[in-house]
Amino acid sequence: MRAILLSITMVGLVQSISAQEPKMKSESDHQIWAIAIHGGAGGEPSRWSPQKREAREKGLMDALSLGKKRLAEGANALEVVEAVIRRLEDDASFNAGRGSVLTKAGHAELDASLMNGQDLSCGAVAGVRNVKNPISLARRVMNDTPHVLLMGDGAEEFAERSKVELVEPSYFFSRVRLEKRANQTGNVASLPVDKHQSSDEKHFGTVGCVVRDRSGNLAAGTSTGGTSKKLEGRVGDSPIVGAGTYADNRYAAVSGTGIGEEYIRNAVAYDVIARIKYRNDTLADAVSSNLSDRLEEGTGGLIAVSPSGEIVMQHNTPGMSCAAADNSGRFECFFSVP
Ligand code: ASP
Repeated sequence: MRAILLSITMVGLVQSISAQEPKMKSESDHQIWAIAIHGGAGGEPSRWSPQKREAREKGLMDALSLGKKRLAEGANALEVVEAVIRRLEDDASFNAGRGSVLTKAGHAELDASLMNGQDLSCGAVAGVRNVKNPISLARRVMNDTPHVLLMGDGAEEFAERSKVELVEPSYFFSRVRLEKRANQTGNVASLPVDKHQSSDEKHFGTVGCVVRDRSGNLAAGTSTGGTSKKLEGRVGDSPIVGAGTYADNRYAAVSGTGIGEEYIRNAVAYDVIARIKYRNDTLADAVSSNLSDRLEEGTGGLIAVSPSGEIVMQHNTPGMSCAAADNSGRFECFFSVP
């Protein structure tokens, strides 16, 4: 089984941190920041149309630039995760927010979660149909309620009360509208995503972000329209803390993408943390154990960042859209991690 691995280690800064031994922050620690984002895992990117590749690359680089700027200015990890994911949710090239895939009955039902590694606070929403940026609603759940996860009608009522931006359901139907228009005009090249692919090339484009900020805080978030033609009411791993998202300042911040049912069954995001916590595994080993040994080939991918700013991005699918930047000058985007 193949797990593709990229692990960048900042020399001299990797260390194992336990709950009993809080990390002493040095002067140079405050220079460290790191961010990784993903835009979904799946089929072979070399089979994408040039338009799709270009749109994805532009979207990832744009979101990465925003994250880089905010982190260099000293912004908090959680704020950066929300801002970066909002940017990706507004980009119809990805399966989150505006570009979400549709259920079998033709609705967009959106899921999102985020987690603050500083105090394990977290928030999530599932199955919302009229919220422009589900990641921001998840943050409101975290900040303004005693709960972790709100779903369906209750989440939408909360969204109205919270005054987050609401949209008509047609806002999410950009793919359908574009497809109709393309069919009318015969210009299929204008389709931004997926429509060029055969079913064995699926690469839906869920989005996620993990961050280590200059104060040493970690945060993670994930947002998605779920899987295409899912049953009404189906909820995947993205809004399930411990499955699709997890962050703990002492161990790692993790976001996953792939077949959500498998990520839930295997509690993947928390399993990465548990391997570091209880077995003293490295972050790279904890991630690769999940993708190589626990999840079947073709299931998906993970991005993660450690307390020292080490970024790990791996997938067991042919491709994963992802990008990474850090204070050493790294700034790059991949469709398949080398
Ligand atoms: N994990 C998402 C879900 O199952 C889909 C994806 O990441 O492509 O809802």
